[in-house]
Amino acid sequence: GGSPRMSAISAVTNYKPSNPPMNFIETPTQELFCANVFSKAEMKARLPKPVFKSVLKTIETGEKLDSSIADIVASALKDWAIEKGATHYAHVFYPLTGATAEKHDSFLTPDGEGSAIAEFSGSQLIQGEPDGSSFPSGGIRATFEARGYTIWDVTSPAYILENDNGTTLCIPTAFVSWTGEALDKKTPVLRSMQALNAQAQRILNLFGHTDGALVSSTAGPEQEYFLIDRNFFFARPDLLNAGRTLFGAKPPKGQEFDDHYFGAIPDRVLAFMLEAERELFKLGVPIKTRHNEVAPGQYEIAPLFEFANVATDHQQLIMLTLRRVAEKYGMTCLTHEKPFAGVNGSGKHVNWSMGSKTQGNLLDPGDTPHENAQFLLFCAAVIRAVHKFQGLLRAVVASASNDHRLGANEAPPAIISIFLGDQLTDVFDQIKEGGANSSIPKGTLTVGVDTLPPLPKDAGDRNRTSPFAFTGNRFEFRAVGSSMSIAGPLVAMNTIVAESLDYCATRLEEATGGDSSKLNSELQKLLTEIMTEHGTIVFNGDGYSDEWHAEAEQRGLLNLKTTADALPFLQDESVKELFSKYNVLSERELESRCEIYMEQYVNTIKVEAALTIEMSRTMIFPAAVRYQNELASTCANLKMLGYEFDTKTLDKVTSLVKALQDGVCDLEEKLAADPDGGMEGEIKFFCSDVLPAMLVVREAADELEDYVADDLWPLPTYQEMLFIK
Ligand code: ADP
Ligand code: MG
Repeated sequence: GGSPRMSAISAVTNYKPSNPPMNFIETPTQELFCANVFSKAEMKARLPKPVFKSVLKTIETGEKLDSSIADIVASALKDWAIEKGATHYAHVFYPLTGATAEKHDSFLTPDGEGSAIAEFSGSQLIQGEPDGSSFPSGGIRATFEARGYTIWDVTSPAYILENDNGTTLCIPTAFVSWTGEALDKKTPVLRSMQALNAQAQRILNLFGHTDGALVSSTAGPEQEYFLIDRNFFFARPDLLNAGRTLFGAKPPKGQEFDDHYFGAIPDRVLAFMLEAERELFKLGVPIKTRHNEVAPGQYEIAPLFEFANVATDHQQLIMLTLRRVAEKYGMTCLTHEKPFAGVNGSGKHVNWSMGSKTQGNLLDPGDTPHENAQFLLFCAAVIRAVHKFQGLLRAVVASASNDHRLGANEAPPAIISIFLGDQLTDVFDQIKEGGANSSIPKGTLTVGVDTLPPLPKDAGDRNRTSPFAFTGNRFEFRAVGSSMSIAGPLVAMNTIVAESLDYCATRLEEATGGDSSKLNSELQKLLTEIMTEHGTIVFNGDGYSDEWHAEAEQRGLLNLKTTADALPFLQDESVKELFSKYNVLSERELESRCEIYMEQYVNTIKVEAALTIEMSRTMIFPAAVRYQNELASTCANLKMLGYEFDTKTLDKVTSLVKALQDGVCDLEEKLAADPDGGMEGEIKFFCSDVLPAMLVVREAADELEDYVADDLWPLPTYQEMLFIK
């Protein structure tokens, strides 16, 4: 057929798999794992013992790297990479756009005599200087000081990336300005982990654990995404340029049947998943689960948890790999939070905890949490932190795309609250009353089928409506958007909990004066006080309900509905103080971030509005008037022949065409307006004026989709995109 849509449909229906099936028997998965990573094992085999020990010390204790060994590490790294076929090395960094950036350099240096030698020095490993001027700095870097440096992050392993176009050694780095200010997402993650460790040590000391084993925050992010055929993707300028559909009528068969969730995975998708997982295994990303999600065409992938900084880098690799491998299977992976209106959106549940080699998971309550004083303190510290900094937690998940998802009765509400589950809620209720003496037993789950074994029952049921849920031995932050880097949320978590632990440690150190026999009673007092002051953040009910919104207001909890409401919170005095006190972000660094995120918000909507106008004018309007013309000439012809013609359809189409045209004009005017009030005024205007104007255009267009002759309609429909596999 002629239209891009028709060619897309025929391409999709004629799809033939071209990739050979994965062979896991030839190369078992265990052997694949870390095959392309300069892992501890690889280092051990290739580095002189003292050098290896020194690197390990940096990784495992957070101690400063001995720079004199850099040359030796670099040389071993180079040899390994070249054996793996690498020709180039790249410092990989994570600019504030949320993307992953790389600067590639060849290993080869001409020797002046017609040949070249492979070189890679310690200083090339440790530091690079990409042209940073095209990455946002939010005013930190004026053009006269445009230098940006990438600095090797020893704690995140180097890896080899195999592409169709070559093989590259990738070195995870932090990206900073020449004044040492953070220009990236990684630097504050590392700083916040340091802060958390320092404060957690003080608490552990109080409990007599003085071995100093590094306390690290751990993260396990679950990634949701959509897959659609690439032919559809390229036939939709909105998907191509904005990552989401700006038009599209609701399909007659939506997700009301819920038959996709955990259903059988289609062959093409399964083949894609296997290959994506295999690639990720090679990169040392411990992928664990995969399944269908709620919406048609929606899936999830989740790795096992790792240290927060490594999990953050790996999460970026997951998104990149999903996109790359999807292409090989003729599909596009959409990580946008809301690619399809009226269909469930995608989130990224970030499971978070903290632990050390000697203490294990510090948020593990054991079977009788009421007796586990150390756990109760760490848990209460989290409760206090989330209550005190709810605005910050909301702000770090704020984006133009996540706004379409949060609070939409399928994703957590914009109100931050904590789900604790029955057992812990009961324990903390007792604490509030003065002391906890019992824990409700977890019990066993009996299924009533003799052949199925009884299972230990989780202490609390799942609550999918909570933005921040305790899930047995960790918290799950569910308000994070599917396209986001998890760095921001982790920085916030680590730092607010560090602040809380600091508060608790100071209180207990003062009250006990070093006398450990006083610890229990002082701890009891402190816990009761924390729950009295901060217990209002705990909510186990239905977060989607209207009653909760009313109740949350009564409890004095924040309800920052949109990014325009939430982002300014990054500039709140309490937040500035928090980040500078723990050396995570200076005021200037924080301000620059806030500015960049506001700019991103405005730019996202600007692009979407421009696309709305363009697609209306060049695709939807022409299709509509063609159909209108068909109807009108039919009407005229019939009249000439003396027939009656019911003009109902013609009238409707005509009025929709007018609405579309008017809407586009109005949107164009709004886009040209110059709102005052600086950056904050601008984001408010885009939120409350431009977005609604786009919706008016969309409404007319979506209704036209239900009228205009199918062969004239230019855009692949929701039905086609979501259900053709
Ligand atoms: P569900 O979909 O039921 O929430 P998944 O198994 O898909 O659970 O994901 C749970 C995630 O939580 C996994 O990434 C898992 O590794 C992670 N997780 C488990 N324990 C911890 C922990 N102590 N710290 C951080 N993340 C954890
Ligand atoms: Mg989950």
